[in-house]
Amino acid sequence: MQKEYIVKAKSGIKIPVKKGELIEVIDLKGQQVVDFFATNQTTPEEFLSAGVTIDCNESIKISTGDSIYTNLYHQMFTIIEDEVKEHDLLHPCCRPEMYDFFYHTGKNHPNCLANINQSLSEAFDTKKAEITPFNIFMHTKILPNGKISVEEPVSKAGDKIVLRAEMDVLLAVAACSVSESSCNGGECTPIKIVVQE
Ligand SMILES: [Zn+2]
Repeated sequence: MQKEYIVKAKSGIKIPVKKGELIEVIDLKGQQVVDFFATNQTTPEEFLSAGVTIDCNESIKISTGDSIYTNLYHQMFTIIEDEVKEHDLLHPCCRPEMYDFFYHTGKNHPNCLANINQSLSEAFDTKKAEITPFNIFMHTKILPNGKISVEEPVSKAGDKIVLRAEMDVLLAVAACSVSESSCNGGECTPIKIVVQE
């Protein structure tokens, strides 16, 4: 059986996923970043950690065969298939303060931190002060001098990544709201999630 979800542009969604189920994340129109975050379904104190994922993989880039880990160093997801191979583990969720810092557009700006927190709060009534998600399709280049350049995503319409859940999770994903830079190719668009039992 499979369930399909459309995440509208600049919005978020929560999806409970069981261990062993496959999660397809599909970029419907191309060049759209997906903020992908999750907590353990029963103990929300355990959650996806981009830092631990970098640590365990000894890499800032992950793709097919690599796993994503929790703050407690447990496997949470494994990447089964990856048509894009450019994703980011460095950037925290966009938030009003970030929009103000760079663009002075923070007031009432849709943002991934709120969209993910709202999705999680429906289940746990908790909010996280900062979230660094797995930024699917986000194209980050590290320059030789250590500077970071956020480039236009290389994902095309219909491109996907498939992950297997390695524990029961509450998935919270957001279609990123940045239209001010190259992050989403200058335009925010919807994404599709398919969960297969
Ligand atoms: Zn965002």
